[in-house]
Amino acid sequence: MDKILEALVSSNHSVPVKKAIVKRVVEAAEREVTEEQCQALYTVTTRLILLGEDVFQKQVGFQVMEAYARYHRAEFEQFFTKDFVLALLQQGYCQLDRKDPAIMDYIHCCLRLLISCPSVLDIFTVIQVEVLRIVCERPEPFLCARLSALLADFVQCIPRDKSAVLFCQQLVRTISYFHCPAGQERELREYVGQVTKVSTLLQNIWKAEPATLLPSLQEVFAIISSTDSGFDPSIALASLVQHIPLQMITVLIKSLTTDQNVKDASMTKALCRMIDWLSWPLAQHVDTWVIALLKGLASVQKFTILIDVTLLKIELVFNRLWYPIVRQGALVVLSHMLLSFQHSPEAFHLVVPRVVPLVQSLRTDGLPSSKAFLLQFTDLIHCMIYQYSGFPELYDHILEAIKDLTKPGEEKIKLVLNQSAWTSQSSSCASGLLRHVGKSETGKTGLINLGNTCYMNSIIQTLFMATDFRRHVLSLHLNGANVLMKKLQLLFAFLGHTQRAAYAPRNFFESSRPPWFNAGSQQDCSEYLRFLLDRLHEEEKTLQLLESAKPKAVSSGVTASKDLVDQPCTQGGEERTLIERMFGGRLSTGIRCMQCNSISEKEEPFTDLSLAFCPSTTSKGGPQTEASLEEPKGPSQGSVNGGSEAPEQGSVKPPVSSVHFLSVTNEPPLSVPDLVNYFLAPEILDEENAYFCEKCSSLQQAVRTIKVVTAPEYLILTLLRFSYDAKCHVRRKILDNVTIPPLMRLPMHASSSTRDPSSLLKVDSPESIENQAKKLKPSQKDEEEEVQSVPYVLSSVVMHSGVSSESGHYYSYGRDFNGADGRQHPANHFVQEEDLGNGQIELSPATCSAFTIPPKETEALICRGQEAKDWLLFNDSRVTFTSFQSVQNVTSRFPKDTAYVLIYRKQDLTECNINEGVASNGMRLSTEPPLQKELLDAITKDNKLYLQEQELNARTQALQASSSSCSFRPNGSDDNDPPGSCGPSGGGGGGGGLNTISRLVF
Ligand SMILES: [Zn+2]
Repeated sequence: MDKILEALVSSNHSVPVKKAIVKRVVEAAEREVTEEQCQALYTVTTRLILLGEDVFQKQVGFQVMEAYARYHRAEFEQFFTKDFVLALLQQGYCQLDRKDPAIMDYIHCCLRLLISCPSVLDIFTVIQVEVLRIVCERPEPFLCARLSALLADFVQCIPRDKSAVLFCQQLVRTISYFHCPAGQERELREYVGQVTKVSTLLQNIWKAEPATLLPSLQEVFAIISSTDSGFDPSIALASLVQHIPLQMITVLIKSLTTDQNVKDASMTKALCRMIDWLSWPLAQHVDTWVIALLKGLASVQKFTILIDVTLLKIELVFNRLWYPIVRQGALVVLSHMLLSFQHSPEAFHLVVPRVVPLVQSLRTDGLPSSKAFLLQFTDLIHCMIYQYSGFPELYDHILEAIKDLTKPGEEKIKLVLNQSAWTSQSSSCASGLLRHVGKSETGKTGLINLGNTCYMNSIIQTLFMATDFRRHVLSLHLNGANVLMKKLQLLFAFLGHTQRAAYAPRNFFESSRPPWFNAGSQQDCSEYLRFLLDRLHEEEKTLQLLESAKPKAVSSGVTASKDLVDQPCTQGGEERTLIERMFGGRLSTGIRCMQCNSISEKEEPFTDLSLAFCPSTTSKGGPQTEASLEEPKGPSQGSVNGGSEAPEQGSVKPPVSSVHFLSVTNEPPLSVPDLVNYFLAPEILDEENAYFCEKCSSLQQAVRTIKVVTAPEYLILTLLRFSYDAKCHVRRKILDNVTIPPLMRLPMHASSSTRDPSSLLKVDSPESIENQAKKLKPSQKDEEEEVQSVPYVLSSVVMHSGVSSESGHYYSYGRDFNGADGRQHPANHFVQEEDLGNGQIELSPATCSAFTIPPKETEALICRGQEAKDWLLFNDSRVTFTSFQSVQNVTSRFPKDTAYVLIYRKQDLTECNINEGVASNGMRLSTEPPLQKELLDAITKDNKLYLQEQELNARTQALQASSSSCSFRPNGSDDNDPPGSCGPSGGGGGGGGLNTISRLVF
């Protein structure tokens, strides 16, 4: 029979004849065959299977062997012994190498025929040992795949217990030696199929013997974290990732990122290699693991690794987007890398040149999934352009390429960026010690108290929250000039863009501190604000002078004509400074001689109004009556900053009975409009204060009236709470609560310069004092003057906590006009409705005095404002969300905490127009200006430094934690302090230090 078979395969018979002969041989298997004949047949068929020249010969071999083994199993058992298997695996067969996959296939096939025989168990044992040896020899993918197929069918051949761990580890290492054949798609598919077989085997072993999983993963990490430059592990390892149970992710990443033995260089390598895995075609969950590791590293502040890896790999990840099969995972990782890399535009700018070609390809590749993918991708690009605005030359063509696609809203972008920052990664993995102090949920930056500098901090935050002022400052081009404005610009840039939770304004403090302010001691924030604005104003004027001294003609025509729409841009031919345009208003002081009725008028600029408290109300005398008309105006008569006649701020004016005022209100709780009206109320100059009338050439009784003739964009109001007590020689604080309306109207009298010059000096017939006083009642409108009622909306409030201006603490509330629903804020609509209802400009008698918008609407506003989270509390380094209600209630909760400086923003009527982008009068900039390169560079540099600081801190703490066994809990959180409590070095007194000591002592 064996002779027939041998003759057959080597003969020249036609295929049908050969098949007929084979059929006869197979049929003969059922008959009686001697043992020798059997053995001879098995030998021949083995030769055919292993050495057969073509597929036909091999098939014939299998067919015949299978037929005989079925009927003559005992003989087959004698033939296919463990020694034979061992010889095959160790020496090969004739000229066939032992590593030839045909041998593995042959054994696989014979095991099937032998499965029910007892001797198969011995063979299993032999194979268990042999497969371990084979994987240690790093077999090629095709052999490894054959081996895996065999072990998948005969799990009894898989090494057990300790050998199982070893086998898995060696198999992992074997995979890392795989290399992809550089060839056609067919070869690539074959290769991927082979790798999948091997990884599936590993998965099955992990499932059957869970103890093998962790050592296998350790082996994976050991391989990919290797810094040996001579070895580059195969990305085929990626095929294992999908088999790692996802519920292990947290614990694995934690142990990886907190392992002190893992060097940075190793972690960097490992992360880079995992990112390379994104190229593996069938990989699942690779993106999940990569992102988990990135986040894990961020949570333990290993920023150096993150920076290095991102810059090294960002382009590679981006390039994966070109391949549909891996693009989704790659985009997830790319998004995370770009969105979290917030300290510098470096990473984004590496991929910027690649954006447009990709967009074009996605538009034209015709794949159904590309459209949705393109939208995801452009969302990311919009976020990045928003984060790093200010590079039009880089972004213009990108925006052009994606202009027809929907752009995510600003709020969404902010949210995404906020959630992605390294500094906002949950530190749940890290120990309590590493709890991160990132930016607060507000996304706003605090200011570190440098030692009683809360007066400065609260003023800076207040100015920062004056949106238009901030935007103008940030868009100034102060080339090279080392001026205070430049320092303010840098400070604003930091407040807006730093990654620090709080910024230390050391440089600005040193530059802006009035020379008479001692560093380290508490100061008056109002005085500081005035000094600051004044210096900025003077500085700009000086620069203007220097500029005009240059031969080149300055063409300011455009600016001028634009500004003229609202108000005169120039005063005395000079260009108005930014401070003037933002905070500058004008007051007209008119003094009317009661004898001859001639009026002397004088206009003065102001940047803030200092409002005295009406004495009648402070004396709790109940509702005012006409009697209060004759009461003396308090010691702190309202004064005008910059006004030559006005007394110095906070200076003392002795109580003079000759100064009278006319009450304008009888509403019991004092409100800001009450104080404004008191300020604007006519004042009778008499006796010691009598007025020297030039016309009468003698001292006369007179009435002085202050009118606002130009309403500033930002109205700064200082409440004169600090009064000098002459008896005790101390400055006392008036602690009265003052109601702060969110919306208010300020009466503005058309500027005298715009009026008919003849009306400047009015000569009326003499009148009695009574009539005069009656006429001056605010309810009685001056027919000759046009009075406008200018709406203002509250922007910020600086609070003073304490009983004197030299002590205590300052903090501030600011309304975030851009936060939440700032643009659709009810305040805007409310004012518009009111104005539309009453015509363009109100001329009713009520407009002659400042007044609060009625309470009903105010309440609605408050409620909505609270939901909108558009109020912020700035308390040195802390910034928290708050509601307008708490701004109003703070004094009733903390009686020493009182509103001190308020800033109101002029309500722009055109603001309510649908077209938000239109700047009404050149004062409003509709968006944040792009960050100038110089500022961006400074922030980038500092952000890097900040990340390094944190990293160093985290490492030090981790080292300390690992070296000490006892648990250390940091001092209790101080979040429960009232807002008025001072910072660590503040002047609040009664600090926690003493309490701690007393607790220790007793
Ligand atoms: Zn006179």
